Amino acid sequence: MPDSAHTLAHLAARVAELESERELTLRLAQTDSLTGLVNRGAFTSALCERLEAARQAGERVALFVVDLDRFKHLNDTLGHHAGDLFLAEIGERLRRDALPGELVARLGGDEFAVISNCPEPAHRAQRLLELLTQPHSIYGRQVSPGASIGVAVYPDDAPDGGDLQRFADMALYRVKTQGGRRWSAFDADLRAENTRRRTLESELRRAIPAGEIEPWFQPVVDARDGRITGVEVLARWRHPEQGLLSPATFVPMAEELGLIGRIDEAVFEAGCACAAPWVEAGLIEAVAFNVSPRDLLDPAFSRKLIGRLGKTKLPATALTVEITETFLLQDLALSRRHIERLNAKGVRIALDDFGTGYSNLRALMHLPIQTVKLDRSLICDVAKDGRVAKLVASVLHAARALDIRIVAEGVEEEAQAIFLRHAGCDRMQGYFFARPMPAADMEAALAASQVETPHLFEAQPARRRARA
Ligand code: C2E
Ligand code: CA
Ligand code: CA
Repeated sequence: MPDSAHTLAHLAARVAELESERELTLRLAQTDSLTGLVNRGAFTSALCERLEAARQAGERVALFVVDLDRFKHLNDTLGHHAGDLFLAEIGERLRRDALPGELVARLGGDEFAVISNCPEPAHRAQRLLELLTQPHSIYGRQVSPGASIGVAVYPDDAPDGGDLQRFADMALYRVKTQGGRRWSAFDADLRAENTRRRTLESELRRAIPAGEIEPWFQPVVDARDGRITGVEVLARWRHPEQGLLSPATFVPMAEELGLIGRIDEAVFEAGCACAAPWVEAGLIEAVAFNVSPRDLLDPAFSRKLIGRLGKTKLPATALTVEITETFLLQDLALSRRHIERLNAKGVRIALDDFGTGYSNLRALMHLPIQTVKLDRSLICDVAKDGRVAKLVASVLHAARALDIRIVAEGVEEEAQAIFLRHAGCDRMQGYFFARPMPAADMEAALAASQVETPHLFEAQPARRRARA
């Protein structure tokens, strides 16, 4: 072979090699390694292509989103390897059962999707459920976690892939939260809910710059004498038509929309402006703010907060930042960095909602936390259930040994308050003392507390009176 021909042949072979390599890389990038199914990224683009083809052909496309029930339990009890084996089996079942033209994907975790042009989505959903609930043997044990399915149909329900996915998810969420039938299709009720949500979403975007998010204040009292020592700042949305809205209606939505950081900022600024003078006048010592776990994922969170604090009149030593344990345990190294940076300025860190999650005490105790807030669910039974009482008493005992301050939340009854005081709790907060209130009412309550003592503590000489 002449030299030039040889070089050309070599080049051609190399190009072919590169092309197949590129194809392989591309295929790998589109495949979920555990199940061999299409992954989330490839699923989204495939859905758009299929809808475009269906639009041109005047056909319908059904999207099924599948979520396994109790999968976490299986993972926790039999281990991650067993969990992986089970997911691979589910993937295999879906692939084997796929009708001609169907696309099966794993969206992540224990969530799968099927894009189908079957004419009867209800029958198909039923069939998928039967398939997924058949037991499977892992390490000689029969497992059948069960599944839930949400369905939405193009173009009847949604005009594009984004909405189709959201609507199928809404239907799935309804199945998950309502019990009963294990599959559900997007319908008029969900459409109405979607419209309500969409309206509320755009109103929330406008509400923040319009100043409709305002800080309310709930007193925190000294457990020994009932004196108000601090406040927790809680967000409220003064909606122009719907009136006052509680965080449950807008905080989860704000987290989803990426707006929670701006809400927390607005509450912080306005809350500091109200409460700093109370601290300055010696009426209270501590002001606590809630921060969303979303905020904390920002590596610059603590630096930004310290910067914002510098623009207020609130001394750093009067500030408490309340953090839930879900975040702390999610990224221990980042948590520690935030906490240490804030501690260095004199800011206290409180662990919120303690007793609700799977508290990993060992991990938590290694973090420099100054306060733990016992969740309402524990306090609620403290005067009725001897075992809860013992548990709370031992938490209080451990906290004392570690020099951690305990705030009991959700104290609603006198009996609870008396128990907590005798068990050595430091601070209490709850409807028994006061509900959250707007700034003007809080100011009045602080002024009144200078002369009154809550009746529970009448027998106890209040420190304030003793001083007087
Ligand atoms: P949280 O931090 O656990 O706040 C305590 C919640 O318990 C408040 O509900 C308070 O009104 C309520 N509460 C206090 N005492 C009692 C009681 O004796 N009985 C009962 N049943 N409830 C009591 P709220 O104000 O509705 O806030 C709910 C949650 O929303 C808060 O729970 C917090 O996680 C979140 N949140 C509130 N404000 C903000 C904020 O500015 N930013 C962020 N990211 N989250 C906030
Ligand atoms: Ca809180
Ligand atoms: Ca709490």
